[in-house]
Amino acid sequence: MQQWLKIGAFELHWLNGGLFELDGGSMFGVVPRVLWGKKYPHDENNYIKLTNSPILIKTGRELILIESGLGNKLTDKQKQIFRVKEDWNILNDLAALGIERGDINFVILTHYDFDHAGGVVMLEKNGQLGLTFPNAKHIVQKAEWNDAVNPNKRSINTYWPINVETLKESKNVELADGNSEVVNGVSVIHTMGHTKGHQAVSIESQGEKALHMADLLPTHAHSNPLWIMAYDNFPLDAIDAKEKLLNDGIAENVWFTFYHDAFMKACRLDTKGNVTERFE
Ligand SMILES: [Zn+2]
Repeated sequence: MQQWLKIGAFELHWLNGGLFELDGGSMFGVVPRVLWGKKYPHDENNYIKLTNSPILIKTGRELILIESGLGNKLTDKQKQIFRVKEDWNILNDLAALGIERGDINFVILTHYDFDHAGGVVMLEKNGQLGLTFPNAKHIVQKAEWNDAVNPNKRSINTYWPINVETLKESKNVELADGNSEVVNGVSVIHTMGHTKGHQAVSIESQGEKALHMADLLPTHAHSNPLWIMAYDNFPLDAIDAKEKLLNDGIAENVWFTFYHDAFMKACRLDTKGNVTERFE
């Protein structure tokens, strides 16, 4: 089976940034389990499997990563709490593609929760913390970065200083203020909703398009605009942004790409939110 998804001249490769399990209820918010349970498998304790899969975009000129995975700094206790079943392995996955850490040009962070930004700073072999991708510009929304640097009572649980400080001290942060183009064909869209500075990523080449809605569409089972996560900080904004992006994407027959879906890497959807084509 083909290992990567072709979007025009671009290649999209999914990397293993760690697999964990969360309570299905927190991932489906107010939706009862009798409904979401038909769309996404769960175990007897309602836990569901979720990947954390950064997507490498090879444009032919640049190497761009969307997200960074769980990273290699989780303690044994944290691994137990988040029920980590597979460790972060993106450097080996990149090596298998002939790519080294220093080769990555951009890391787009849709937001700064630890499951997305945990791989920005890594524990090096010498025991020091270092930027995982030392030559990459790290694209974060300005609003997100401000909140990550100054977390509030709730967000301190997911915005961890250990994932922020090394990047803050470097020259590698590039703040986006609203929608902006990263390179020709790859743009970020400031959505808000999940967090204040949450952003989606639009990928377009030769008339073909993919849309990465990040935590506004964590899995294919979330295609109903009202099926949002309990983690969303601004639920009504999340629903509005999600509905607009879904409608636009469905109208353009884009590939919707997933970071957390353990069963599907990307899919196309019809107007009822049903999967019409899948990439696994
Ligand atoms: Zn997430």
